[in-house]
Amino acid sequence: MKTADDVKLVKNGRLVNGTGASPIEDAALLIDSGRIRFAGPVGDLEELSNEIEIIDARGGTIMPGLVEAHFHATYFNVAALEDLDIKYPVEYVTLLAAVNAKLVLECGYTAARSGGSLFNIDFWLKKAIENDLAPGPRLSPSGREICGVGGLMDWNPDFRKIGMDGLMLLINGPEEARAAVRKLVKDGVEWVKTYPTGDAAAPDINDHHTLCMTFEEMDAVVTTAHNHALKVTGHCRATEGIKNALRAGYDALEHGSFMDDEALDMLLERNTPVVPALFFEQACIDADPKYGMTQKMIDGHQETLEGGAESARRILKAGGRLGMGGDYGFAWNPHGDYAKELTFFVDYVGFSPLETITCATKSGAEIMGCGDDFGTLEVGKLADVLIVDGDVLSDISILEDRKRFIAVMQGGIIKSGQLANRQEAAQL
Ligand SMILES: [Zn+2]
Repeated sequence: MKTADDVKLVKNGRLVNGTGASPIEDAALLIDSGRIRFAGPVGDLEELSNEIEIIDARGGTIMPGLVEAHFHATYFNVAALEDLDIKYPVEYVTLLAAVNAKLVLECGYTAARSGGSLFNIDFWLKKAIENDLAPGPRLSPSGREICGVGGLMDWNPDFRKIGMDGLMLLINGPEEARAAVRKLVKDGVEWVKTYPTGDAAAPDINDHHTLCMTFEEMDAVVTTAHNHALKVTGHCRATEGIKNALRAGYDALEHGSFMDDEALDMLLERNTPVVPALFFEQACIDADPKYGMTQKMIDGHQETLEGGAESARRILKAGGRLGMGGDYGFAWNPHGDYAKELTFFVDYVGFSPLETITCATKSGAEIMGCGDDFGTLEVGKLADVLIVDGDVLSDISILEDRKRFIAVMQGGIIKSGQLANRQEAAQL
């Protein structure tokens, strides 16, 4: 991805630098060739020539671009899980993924880590974004996800004879687990996404307390993936599934819903990050009846929400790491709503806006393995910046309204927001 070749000064704003430090009032951000040269009080800024471009933050917020830590570019706002693998061909899903990638960037997310991809679309989407052929977040790609036969994601009955080829690699035993990871190695993904546990979405045979992979299968996944420098994560709700993932050496956990003291201790000892994705549970509970949520499913999502919120509070309090990602891409939790997760963490879970933003920037970049490159506004890092007309620390829900974004920048280049629209208008 190209970076800017000029010098830009952002000023007249409150700097929230993403490290969790207190905000700096009347701050300045100096960007030189796409990287940050200065971030601090305007009074400490060096003498500058008159040549540089000045961006007025209008007394609003200057903060790092957000990181969506559980992004499904290829989930196209499906109304039923089964639609994921049988509704459209790869050609059309690829186009939909490009649309979602553009949208997430417009919503202020300058980077995203995938939580699983149909076919091998993520990898090629990332290539198009990196080559500036399509707009989108800096993307950490996953591929097809791995689940045990008969587990949560194995929903097509055998008599249909259609398998799960575009979505899932279904395995029986460690040998098949290794073979599945080797396929993903060839696909070029960074993350191997697995299903150690079930979910409230399948209350009868794969509910949120069910295990969908054995420890031996998970161990085989991790050993093979790590051998090829791939990272492993998993859909972990049930306590025993969380412990299996930690024991096997997972690099991150999705959800981490039901954690007892032992699970929390293991997590903290390994410093494994967790991406809870909690608003999704509320969205399932509140979903329109036309999406067919049964009372059993709703009760399960309620239990998951309460367990997940409690785990998130305990992890934060104990000094663990959390990323903000929302599992968007379902009809009742559609793309574009990404920042609802942040508001929900403040209003329902009880995090402060500053804690939530730190999770959504610094921790997100760390989960991607890019903490040295972006995620905070510190000297030397890429200028992935979000400039917002408003004080996000007093009202974090401002981040849900992309009309209030003055600029969304990647590497010092304005990609979206009011200033980008003005640039486009001037070129017409
Ligand atoms: Zn997901």
